[in-house]
Amino acid sequence: MVSLQSLLELQKIDTELLQLAHRVVNLEERAVLTKAKAALATSQKESAIASDQLASTKTEIDALEAANKKCESLMTKYSQQLKTVIAPREAEALQHEIETVRAERSANDDKELLLLETTESLQSKIMRVAEQIAAQIVKVDSATASLNDAINDCDAQKNVLDGRRAAVAGMIDAKMLKLYDIKRNKRATPAVADLHGSKCQSCHLDLSVVELSALKKLGADEMAECPNCDCYLAV
Ligand SMILES: [Zn+2]
Repeated sequence: MVSLQSLLELQKIDTELLQLAHRVVNLEERAVLTKAKAALATSQKESAIASDQLASTKTEIDALEAANKKCESLMTKYSQQLKTVIAPREAEALQHEIETVRAERSANDDKELLLLETTESLQSKIMRVAEQIAAQIVKVDSATASLNDAINDCDAQKNVLDGRRAAVAGMIDAKMLKLYDIKRNKRATPAVADLHGSKCQSCHLDLSVVELSALKKLGADEMAECPNCDCYLAV
């Protein structure tokens, strides 16, 4: 039977490489960064909405102030006219106009006061959110740095494993390597395993006594395979 110890070692390195690749994708630092970025985006959106509201509130205030200027010039005009009219009916009509415009101006003033309150609360909200955003940017930056550190750490581990793999693979016959690759590409479980007692370490099933003795009878150039999962067995 061909010795598959180096192939088993290669498989172990490949398993470590797979686990490492899985770790890189699922790094906790990545989840932390995603969460920090989402929180920042939420605040930025909140700030943008408040700024839009502030702008439209200012537009409304400007419109009210323009309307009040108009009211005042109308009142001035009607007061001037009032001085020149003689007919009591006309005077009464003008008085009525003046009262209507005065009421409008007063209503506008009330609205403007409310809008000024809204403006103040929006401005303080924008300031509060701006502080929040500043803190969140710091968090995103530090989460980015932590993630980069973790990725660099994984890269360093990968370099070590790649080096070990190249060294081990260099000792293995090219044909055997090819067979290993073919088998490995067809399965998710290890392509090479050893036996713990009579248990295959790839499929974790026991080999029967008959199967175990059949392994011992293999020819010098034959590679042992698990009768259950078909992996190579380093025995
Ligand atoms: Zn097996």
